[in-house]
Amino acid sequence: MIEINSISEMKKITKELKNNKKIGFVPTMGYLHKGHLSLLEISKKLSDVSIVSIYVNPKQFLLGEDFEKYPRNIEHDRKLLIDSNCDILFIPNDNEMYPDNFLTYVSVDKISKILCGASRPGHFDGVTTVVLKLFNIVNPALAVFGEKDYQQLVIIEKMVNDLNLDIKIISGPIIREPDGLAMSSRNVYLSKEEREQATCLYKSLVLAQDMVKNNIRKTKKIISAITDFINKFNLAKIDYIKIVNNETLEEITDIEYKGRLMLAVKFGKTRLIDNCELSIE
Ligand code: AMP
Repeated sequence: MIEINSISEMKKITKELKNNKKIGFVPTMGYLHKGHLSLLEISKKLSDVSIVSIYVNPKQFLLGEDFEKYPRNIEHDRKLLIDSNCDILFIPNDNEMYPDNFLTYVSVDKISKILCGASRPGHFDGVTTVVLKLFNIVNPALAVFGEKDYQQLVIIEKMVNDLNLDIKIISGPIIREPDGLAMSSRNVYLSKEEREQATCLYKSLVLAQDMVKNNIRKTKKIISAITDFINKFNLAKIDYIKIVNNETLEEITDIEYKGRLMLAVKFGKTRLIDNCELSIE
């Protein structure tokens, strides 16, 4: 695995590679786990050269959020990526990514302002801005994103479409801990009690899927059952529970064919998200 830190060097390498190789790209904020590595596996299957970036993007953290204390362990990440046969690791630095005179932002309207965007105003503008910058630097044929951040995936697909980028966006399924908790770099923030109670997110997804299997189609009814269920966990504070259209992210009242359950629940300062498809077989 080669490691690149400079933007100009990364651009030079990918410009040459692109002539005869298909580049697959997995952007991350590091502190890697099996969820990230599963995306690398997808990239490796679909491309000739796989590039993983690690960059804790300051622009996607709101004032007062956990940017400073976001978990970082480059040594460990490097080892995991070498063991997983990653070809190129790209670790840009803040000064190069956002020099003092940086002024440009990319914003996907509407779908960036709902769900997590309502709780974290401006967050997705930071995400789309950094992802477009990384796309321009890495020049990939395809990029892999996790369904774990489902809203982010939909927003990036929209950006790629709206701005006519020649990049195929591939999604990877959510990788979970044995008890169902979706893997996340932020899970390390949880205390022992919070970690135990955090399984309520996954259990809620299962509860909703069971309700749909039992022919309950009214989203209000499903949301109400999940709300009651999560409220039984004394450390959990619901941010939102919504059932939305898979593509537009608009709230739906009935599950006619399929929909997506979206959850955000706080445990102390730690905000966890999860989601699943609700479909009628
Ligand atoms: P992050 O480092 O949290 O910004 O995530 C980088 C990429 O990994 C994003 O596309 C995430 O959706 C994806 N990801 C994070 N956690 C998981 C998981 N548990 N399963 C699958 N993909 C994940």
